Formats: sequence, C-alpha cells, structure tokens
Amino acid sequence: MQTFPAQRPSSQWDEARNRLDGLPEGRGLNIAYEALDRHALHGRGDQVAIQWVPREGDAVSLTYQDLVDRTNRFANALAELGYETGHGVATLAGRIPDLYVAALGTLKSRGIYTPLFSAFGPDPIAMRLNLGRIAVLVTTAAQYRRKVAALRPDLPSLQHVLISGDGAEEIDDPTVLDLNQLLERAADHYEIGPTDPEDRALLHFTSGTTGTPKGALHVHQAVEGHAETGRLALDLRSSDTFWCTADPGWVTGTSYGIISPLVNGVTSIVDEADFDPERWYRILQDQQVSVFYTAPTALRMLQRAGDELAAGHKFPSLRLVASVGEPLDPESVIWAQRVFQVPVLDNWWQTETGGIMISNLIDHPVKPGSMGKPLPGITAGLLKCDEQGELVVGHDGDPVEITTADEVGELALEAGWPSMFRGYLDNEERYRACFAGRWYHSGDLARRDSDGYFWFVGRNDDVIKSAGHLIGPFEVESALTEHPAVVEAGVIGKPDERVGNIVKAFVVLANSYAPSEELRRDLIGHARSRLGAAVAPREIQFSTSLPHTRSGKIMRRLLRARELNLDEGDTSTLESQA
Ligand code: ATP
Ligand code: MG
Repeated sequence: MQTFPAQRPSSQWDEARNRLDGLPEGRGLNIAYEALDRHALHGRGDQVAIQWVPREGDAVSLTYQDLVDRTNRFANALAELGYETGHGVATLAGRIPDLYVAALGTLKSRGIYTPLFSAFGPDPIAMRLNLGRIAVLVTTAAQYRRKVAALRPDLPSLQHVLISGDGAEEIDDPTVLDLNQLLERAADHYEIGPTDPEDRALLHFTSGTTGTPKGALHVHQAVEGHAETGRLALDLRSSDTFWCTADPGWVTGTSYGIISPLVNGVTSIVDEADFDPERWYRILQDQQVSVFYTAPTALRMLQRAGDELAAGHKFPSLRLVASVGEPLDPESVIWAQRVFQVPVLDNWWQTETGGIMISNLIDHPVKPGSMGKPLPGITAGLLKCDEQGELVVGHDGDPVEITTADEVGELALEAGWPSMFRGYLDNEERYRACFAGRWYHSGDLARRDSDGYFWFVGRNDDVIKSAGHLIGPFEVESALTEHPAVVEAGVIGKPDERVGNIVKAFVVLANSYAPSEELRRDLIGHARSRLGAAVAPREIQFSTSLPHTRSGKIMRRLLRARELNLDEGDTSTLESQA
C-alpha cells in the first residue's frame, strides 16, 4: 500500500512573486502592470504582445508599448468618466483588440473586469451585468443595438456604454460613447494607483455545466499564479509564439488568453474567427505557433476533419500542445501526438482555482488519459466520500484523506495558492461550503495511481451509481472513443429499478460511419471487452452532435434531462447545436 505525504515547497510562491516587479515605490501588485508596463520598462516594448488575426485580411501586430499606451488611455478615460476604484467593467465583444485594451485598462484603473461571451443573448447578459453590478460596458454598436439597448431600463447599475468601432454616433443616448474618441482624447501616460494584492480584479462566471453559472471573484495576487503556472505547465518563454484558443468569455481565455502569456512576455495569437480546421492548421503553420493551448473538443473536431488536412500543413515551430476544460481521452492524446509530433499535455483546473493546478509537464513522461501531477507549490489530495457523495469527516473534524493508490475520492487542493478565488458573488454560504479543514474541495472525483498521477473520474453530479458500482462517465466515454467509429461520446446514468441506474451512451460517429444495429452491437461488445459488462453501456444512442457549453464541455445534465423529460435548467451557456 502506498501513501502520499503532502509535499509543499513553501518557497515556490515566494520565488514566483520575486520574478514579478510589483508596482514602483512599493505601491503593491497590479496584474496589468506585470502584464505590460514592466516589459516596456525593461526594454521589451517593441516585442509583439498580441498578434491579432482578423476574420478576414492581414494580421495586425500590437507591441507591448502599443498596449501600454492604449491601456493607459483607457484607464484615463475611465477616470475622466469618474471611475476611481472598485467599478465593474464588462466587455461584450468578439476577440477584437479593444477587448484586450479594456480588460487590462480596467485592471490598471483598479476596476473589476468581467468578460461576457459575445454570443450570449439578452437574458444571460442582463443576469450577469446585474449580478456583477457592472457600471461600464464595452461593446460594439451591433451588439448594443441587438441585445442591450432594450434592456437598459432593467440594468440599474449600468452607467456608461463604450462603443468599439463605428456606429456610436448613431445611438441617441448620452451614456453611450465612442470608445475610440475617448481613447484619442485621453493622455497616454497613467500612473497606476496603489493596488493591494487582495484588491478584487476579476469576476468570472463559471461554464454552467452543472447548473446556474456562479460568479467567482479573483484578486490581483492571482497574477503570481498566472505567471508561474504559465511558466511551469505551458513552459512559456519570452521567445514563444503562444496560441490559446479559448474565448476570453471563459476563465481560460482570460487567465491564459490575456494575462499569463503577457506576464511571461510572449507573443500571443488572438484569432477573431471561430473554429475551422483548415484555418486553425493554417494559423499554427503561418504564425509559427510554438505553444498551443486548446480544448479536448477542439482536438476531437480536428481529428474528425481527417488526417489529410493536417498532413497538408507543417508545424516546425510547434513544441508543445496543451489541453484543458474536459477530460482528454487517451485516443485524442495519441492522435494529436502523431499529427503534431510534439508532447500533448492535459491539465486540470477550474474557474475557482484561477489557474492550472494539476498538469503534465513537458519533460515528464505522459500517461495518456491522465491529468498529470500537482504543480510545484500546489498540494492536491483526494478526500473520502460517503454513498451520498458527501465528504467523510474524521475524529479530528477534518475530512478524511485517501492515501491508497487508485481509490476514488473528491479532488481537493490545500487552500492558499495565489490565484484561488476569494468568493462567489453574493453567495458567501456556497463559498464557505467549498472548504473543509485545510482543503478546497472541487466537486470533481479522481483517483491517483501509484506513480502519483491523477486520473479524472467525473464530476460529482455526473458519476453513475449502478448495481453497487461507482462509474465515472469519462472511463466509459474513453473506451468508446477508442473505437474507430466514435469521435465523441457522452455517458449518463438512466434510472433503473433493478440496479439503480443503467449506463447509457450518446455517441457521435466519424464521418465515414453510419448508424446501424450492427454497429451498435459492435460498440457494446467493444465497451464490454474493455470495461466489463457491469460498466459498459447497456444502451447506445447515435447522435449527430452532443450538447456542449460554449466553452466546449459536454453538458451531461442536458443529456440526462432530455432523456428523462426533466426541466433543462439554466441553458445560457449552451452552444447552439448543429
Ligand atoms: P459549472 O461550475 O458552472 O458547472 P464548470 O465546472 O464546467 O461549470 P469551469 O470552471 O469552466 O466550469 O470548468 C471546470 C471544470 O472542468 C472542472 O471542475 C472539471 O470538471 C472540468 N475540467 C477541467 N479540466 C479538466 C481536465 N483536464 N480533465 C477533466 N476535467 C476537466
Ligand atoms: Mg464548476
């Protein structure tokens, strides 16, 4: 029996802090200063910070100095409008340069930045603007007209709308202003005011995979985590060209699409357009991307587009592919390693953790299907759960930690890392409930093998109890995607009088396969031989697509609700299905 003593090199975060500059004259720590100004001060102002690839036309380069100037102007413009500190600023826009200027300019002005996904409809926008008490919205004229204008009477905290691009003058409302004019009029010098590392900086809404999205609050100290985890898990070096494909509407697109790459001084690719396999391969090739950070669904969709498309491109600059957001099945790891000829590294984290917590590392052996090990400075543990999924508490009042290899428990992290969330908006009780003893517990179930690698089992809510077994949907989904006919699978428990639940799988087939009774039998046989009859799906349903969140996660709760004719709940983050 193997045990896992907690290892925590306490100096890790001190070192991380020392790698940052801090505001001049000891005025504190500000994310935007670390991301932009200090690079310019250290003579790196001419390096390209953001290489923006517009939907059509040539790429546009923004240097670190360009971004310093523009974010200074943005912060001055906010000051001009009367915003001192603690004001909520949201963006509702596609991946355009002004979004990045607004995000970092807001942080300079010591406001709280909230990204909203551009495809949200009016209801999810109103809900988030009101919950976040957003005072300033940065958006485009088209978005404003289509979705926000009619909501104004229901948005009591919203004071100003700043329009990026053309069209502001045609909106007859004194609170709607032309962002470009404001920036032109503002000075390009700005002194960031004192920023306490504990000052609120970011408000992120979770993906809504398991229920109504929660607003997670993060502080400026998070930058220590953004910097260090980018350096350790994504191996970012200032010579890198890095592409994080996540939209800033989700935490990945902010932590690793804005902050971490800039703090680490790299050139960051921002693609305005949506997923398109041909376009993505072309960007990887032409922009000479060296580190590529994406999601399992994206890798599976690239795989579905076929190997020939990939073979028509060359990726000599690429040295690392990383993935987050959902379990990365071994089949996808092996496929991507073959196509890109570089290590393919899964990592795990959540909106609440602010940054990568568990990761495979570039110079460590990868076990396909595993999330890797806790990063230096992070102590992860597995906590024992009872039949109802509640934590088991020991005599000392603390949760009981699992120390044996391969036993499933709730994945937990020793509280206190820099990018840990500091609250759920307006929900102190729920926040408190995430902590037990010294642990933050994540709501995900995992196991740890005898080499210390963590394996994702499923979300607490998704795990299936069948005939006395605890079945993780990921294990079943992985076995199914191993079959050449299956590109993606979503697995749920379907109530059954005899065994509690039976396992039901929804599968999406590769282009060259068609649904048939024979294929269904073949898939069940394949799953049985891999998993055994108790765990293999009893029912298989062919689907043309699965419901995903806009951040790319399979929404098993919707598969379940639809199967059982239950209420679908909050669907604000549901991606429109093909
Ligand atoms: P909500 O909390 O609103 O239900 P969500 O949990 O999907 O939504 P996020 O914070 O965006 O919102 O996602 C974090 C979750 O994504 C994790 O708790 C985990 O379930 C899943 N996840 C992230 N990375 C991985 C990974 N590498 N392997 C498996 N699951 C992952
Ligand atoms: Mg969650």
